[in-house]
Amino acid sequence: MAMEYKNVRTTDISKREGLLSALDDLSPLPAPYDKNGLEPAFKDPKPEWAETNCCSLDGFCAIDTMKRPETQEEEDELKVKFLKGLEKLFLDANNKYLQPLSLTMEYCAKCNTCSEACHVYKAANGDEIYRPIFRVDVLRKLYKKYFTRSGKLLGSLTGADIDLDWETIARLGESAYRCNLCRRCAQVCPMGLDNGMAAREIRKIFSMEMGLAPTPVHAKGTQLQLKTGSSTGLTRPALMDTLEFIEEDTYERTGRKIKFPLDKKGADVLLFHNAGEFMAWPENPAAFAILLDEAGVDWTLSTDVVGYDSVNYGIWYDDVQAKNVAMAQFEAARKLGVKRIVIGECGHAHKAAVVGADRMADSEERGVPVESFLPMMAEFVRNGRLKFDPSKNDFPVTLHDPCNIVRQMGIVEPQREILRAIAPQFREMTPHGVDNYCCGGGSGFAIMNSYNFGDFRTKVSGRMKFAQILNAFADEMEDPDIVKYVCAPCSNCKGTIRDLLQAYKATARYNVQYGGIVELMVNGLASMDRPYFEFLEE
Ligand code: SF4
Ligand code: SF4
Repeated sequence: MAMEYKNVRTTDISKREGLLSALDDLSPLPAPYDKNGLEPAFKDPKPEWAETNCCSLDGFCAIDTMKRPETQEEEDELKVKFLKGLEKLFLDANNKYLQPLSLTMEYCAKCNTCSEACHVYKAANGDEIYRPIFRVDVLRKLYKKYFTRSGKLLGSLTGADIDLDWETIARLGESAYRCNLCRRCAQVCPMGLDNGMAAREIRKIFSMEMGLAPTPVHAKGTQLQLKTGSSTGLTRPALMDTLEFIEEDTYERTGRKIKFPLDKKGADVLLFHNAGEFMAWPENPAAFAILLDEAGVDWTLSTDVVGYDSVNYGIWYDDVQAKNVAMAQFEAARKLGVKRIVIGECGHAHKAAVVGADRMADSEERGVPVESFLPMMAEFVRNGRLKFDPSKNDFPVTLHDPCNIVRQMGIVEPQREILRAIAPQFREMTPHGVDNYCCGGGSGFAIMNSYNFGDFRTKVSGRMKFAQILNAFADEMEDPDIVKYVCAPCSNCKGTIRDLLQAYKATARYNVQYGGIVELMVNGLASMDRPYFEFLEE
């Protein structure tokens, strides 16, 4: 059965009935998950989902807003919009992406080096639709058929052999949401081509031209953020209550008094958190407060709309949304007159505010420099502004490298410098650094749970990461008395790793814990008189 999905052709995207992959031949997991029965099964999709949405790529549905047209007129209108969006990708107005996209379309040598680098393709054990070049091949054929002279005149003789109907468009859109945009493929391509960027360009057709994007990233993501101030829906009054709660809770748990500085004009540092931290992992902003105070930093949080949420989901699917969010964040910083913005533990926020924003507006328009928290914290460790007792962190620790911070921005060493100083049993994953595998939650997957999409994350896109975690702790894995800590200094990665550990019951069965790097730093601070982690309490 599995072999049939290894031989799917790009033309099957319009011709073939049924699924193009059934994901029935996943790559094996290492011990102890090589034993039957330990891996959770896929939840069966409900038949009615396929009646309203596109589930015919692989049984999953990512773009929950993409409904099957009810009339031929509706389908024709959709086709027109799709083709208009496709054409726009290759116009000068798309100049920030035009050249790399054109090169990716024109110069692929079909060497497949990128496939071997792709964790999704590897997890699916080589099912053709997850090959990084699959979706670009479809795009190339469609462009040729509708926008080149030879394609229009000679059609399939020139390779322009894909028919355009709703199912084809919908499958292509879905396939753009089977890529984590991690760009591991781009890093290894001998021609310098970028299939991750191309997947995002396809997402742009759907969002910017057809108005179709997954609800969690758009309606409940960027739109909610611009309206309420945060993609979590956390308003300013709710933020104030939450911060007060975190201050009280931190004192009760640790005996440590913290007070979040708010809207301090002219502060040296405006700290930007992913607002998800306030809600899901309040110990993370509290840990930042403890460290910055102990290091004597002049810092503040903003309570302005969008000024307290570093999230920018726009960078995954829509240039306009990305710019709207980024500019609102810079405006909040400009209003306070802070000297610099420091991004906390959120990988895509790093990329959006630093390398992404650099493409959206010049430095004058942005107005405030931005940097990552990691080099700053490494400096405090190096120069002794923070003092540690590493024996407090004497348990196995491994590090997940968030793609956006590490591969895409080159921040590799600071986090290792910190861990070597504070965690005596730190060990690397294999591979690591710029060669790391995505957690499986990149590009929005971390928050996308519509229909059955969460299963794709925990069983497919997160599979290689889960295997890496098991391998990093191979010697201690099966001893539940030994705490094992996966350090993931990114909110979205952390959420994905939480979901992986829950789905595979790795915390309950084997005592695998997870969290950020600042929590580990606080746990190891010489000045703390009790553990910061609840899982270390007697
Ligand atoms: S590695 Fe580059 S040239 Fe080779 S198949 Fe992939 S995109 Fe094409
Ligand atoms: S960007 Fe990452 S997930 Fe997407 S095709 Fe490339 S390696 Fe695979």
